[in-house]
Amino acid sequence: MATHKLLLLPGDGIGTEVMAEVKRVIGWLESAGLASFAVEEDLVGGAAYDEHGVAISEEAMTRALAADAILLGAVGGPKWANVPYEARPEAGLLRLRKDLQLFANLRPAICYPALADASSLKRELVDGLDMLIVRELTGGVYFGEPKTITDLSDGQKRAVDTQVYESYEIERIARVAFELARTRRNKVVSAEKHNVMKSGVLWKQVVSEVHGAEFSDVALEHQLADSCAMQLVRAPKQFDVLVTDNLFGDILSDVAAMLTGSLGMLPSASLGGVEEISGKRRALYEPVHGAAPDIAGKGLANPIAMIGSLAMALRYSFGLGEAAGRIEAAIAGVLDKGYRTNDIKSEGTTVVGTSGMGDAILAELGAAR
Ligand code: NAD
Repeated sequence: MATHKLLLLPGDGIGTEVMAEVKRVIGWLESAGLASFAVEEDLVGGAAYDEHGVAISEEAMTRALAADAILLGAVGGPKWANVPYEARPEAGLLRLRKDLQLFANLRPAICYPALADASSLKRELVDGLDMLIVRELTGGVYFGEPKTITDLSDGQKRAVDTQVYESYEIERIARVAFELARTRRNKVVSAEKHNVMKSGVLWKQVVSEVHGAEFSDVALEHQLADSCAMQLVRAPKQFDVLVTDNLFGDILSDVAAMLTGSLGMLPSASLGGVEEISGKRRALYEPVHGAAPDIAGKGLANPIAMIGSLAMALRYSFGLGEAAGRIEAAIAGVLDKGYRTNDIKSEGTTVVGTSGMGDAILAELGAAR
């Protein structure tokens, strides 16, 4: 059995608490003979600043570059509100994304039947929802130059952001979306604004070209991003994979997130290119939520997003889809049995803390406590 190099970066606040539960699931995977890992652990965010004066040390970066996959908890908190800008906790995460060239952000929106009533939409619209948003993460209007605020002679100011994409950036994100669709229900929706934006014209054209040349077996539909937003809340189950740019992806993935209930339920992945020599894709997996200083240290955090991030790593980095499926089924199982952390509790359910939820998931997986 292959041994996978896994780097754990728990980070700050509830990051360390939810990572503790992931370590137990890793232990179960190994003892059940389902996977073998070489696990390393290091600091990121405020924890790294306290120890090294930077948001991630060079040693941790070297480990990150050598890992097959990275699991990150969360960074940040009021303790580090006044540290120098370059050393703020988020800088550690940004450095990882930049140096590992993680250009594809994957955010699944899965609505567990047991939580369908927690959605802001009607149960029948979201029950069983399982879609994946693929957001371009390193280009577009957040990074395009010029990016300025200029004083004008009449006392007014002018702000400029630049939306810019080159065809290679669109090609590689489109490929990720089509490849993932092949492992799911084989359908991609691509969202842009070709009616009013040149970058949208190029986006649509390049996605169509990649589709025609390499992925004609996958169903492709183009939607305008505004219409797509409407479709997401009107009939979300029509989507399988949704691919879009950095700005639209930021917004549409937050809309999709709320279809499913709590932040504590949402895993994510950020993928880079395939390395020529090893054939491996760089990857970082993390929950969508932050360090939650309001509940940190109290044992209240929901570990499901973090454990779901491990499941994504198993599926997308290690080719262990079956083990990933078992973990996801165990999560669905404990929710069916009525176990809830504080953030997802409702009447008649059994409220448990972080380790209580870990216990329940391990029990569901058939592991001894
Ligand atoms: P947050 O996601 O940390 O918390 C938002 C709310 O959701 C809080 O009320 C929190 O208690 C709740 N929550 C979040 N995760 C939960 C979980 N697993 N279980 C139960 N409840 C949960 O966002 P925020 O409060 O805006 O930010 C707090 C800190 O985290 C800030 O320093 C911010 O910069 C940082 N942050 C980091 C990341 C990251 O590491 N990727 C992402 C977002 C925010």
